[in-house]
Amino acid sequence: MAPFTPWIKTDLTDHSSPARDGAVPPPGDGGRITIDLDALAANWQALDARLSDDAECGAAVKADCYGLGSDEGLAALWTAGCRTFFVATPQEGVATRKRLPDATIYILNGLYPGAAAFYAGQGLRPVLGSVDEVAEWRGFVSAQSAAAAAGLHVDTGISRLGLSFDEARAVAAETASGFTPDLVMSHMACADRPDHPMNPVQLERFHAATALFPHARRSLANSAAVFLGSDYHFDVARPGITLYGASASELPQARLRPVVTLESRILQVHELTRGETIGYGATFTAPADMRVAMVAAGYADGYLRASGSTDDKRGADAWIAGYRLPILGRVSMDMSAFDVSAVPPDVACRGAFVELFGPNIPIDETAQCADTIGYELLTGLGRRFSRRYLPVRSARGES
Ligand SMILES: *Cc1c(COP(=O)(O)O)cnc(C)c1O
Repeated sequence: MAPFTPWIKTDLTDHSSPARDGAVPPPGDGGRITIDLDALAANWQALDARLSDDAECGAAVKADCYGLGSDEGLAALWTAGCRTFFVATPQEGVATRKRLPDATIYILNGLYPGAAAFYAGQGLRPVLGSVDEVAEWRGFVSAQSAAAAAGLHVDTGISRLGLSFDEARAVAAETASGFTPDLVMSHMACADRPDHPMNPVQLERFHAATALFPHARRSLANSAAVFLGSDYHFDVARPGITLYGASASELPQARLRPVVTLESRILQVHELTRGETIGYGATFTAPADMRVAMVAAGYADGYLRASGSTDDKRGADAWIAGYRLPILGRVSMDMSAFDVSAVPPDVACRGAFVELFGPNIPIDETAQCADTIGYELLTGLGRRFSRRYLPVRSARGES
């Protein structure tokens, strides 16, 4: 992939040196989120290519495509070739249907009470996750004469949603009375750890449960399970996080192209003399004279408070023009401090942009520094930063 060109411009009225897509940051922007739709499309195609030949690659697009923006994300995935989409809620399903009239859309949260007609009217397929949901859907389907498709969720060990094996067997015995799932799915609890003993246990249980519904397509794999090998692929995969450029798994190959870059502006650079502290709680004391950049990104922007540092714990790094910048002290609501002592003053200067995560600082590293995962960073991105979408360039177009 082409290296990302950050802004390191200092004179914001000088538009003579545009970033790689020709855009310059509007002077009112504190920070910007760049979403590389070409990387998103390429990541979907890379996962699709990894699947067994008879398996279809779907996409988990819940939570606004993991915070990236559904309108743009769905269009890119469709262009890449994706046709089956998994969202959490019926409202997300409606938004997806509006964008993609011909898509197959499953609602992972299952059937909300009294909402069967609403789902069917939008062509949304609930993944029925309890015997109550199955009974309600069955009542709806038999009252209508029209068929409406739905999936069935069986629990194989994560103990969130889904029928037990015995419940699934009872449903299978009654399928003569009007309802047959078109998809049987289950969800992995520990697929991010390839050696975890839970993985083969869940696989075995999934084989037993899906044997009850020989006509339904089978779906087990989230992103991490795609990397467990073809035994886990079945008919439809449901990757999410890997599409969006964060890591799904301990396996290094489970990280594809970065998709999201978070950058923000330096508000000012100042000296911190040896022995002085910085930020709320005075958690960091300068061990020597330093130069500090105050950057306009705080926890209100989704830059997590737990990324900060203390005298005993290193925090997250930012990046500018080849230099890593250690964070200093706590993250505030609107700003964070970074050590720019090693960076030439004309590079780390007022108005310049630093990368908080992106191609140079992996999102997984930033997340780990805050004791969390890329999923939480992405879905928590704030609303104050402007967004720009880099278009799909290379994906095969079928739309
Ligand atoms: C979110 C979700 C996925 C996608 O998981 P990733 O780890 O992001 O690949 C798949 N299936 C279910 C049931 C989910 O809730």
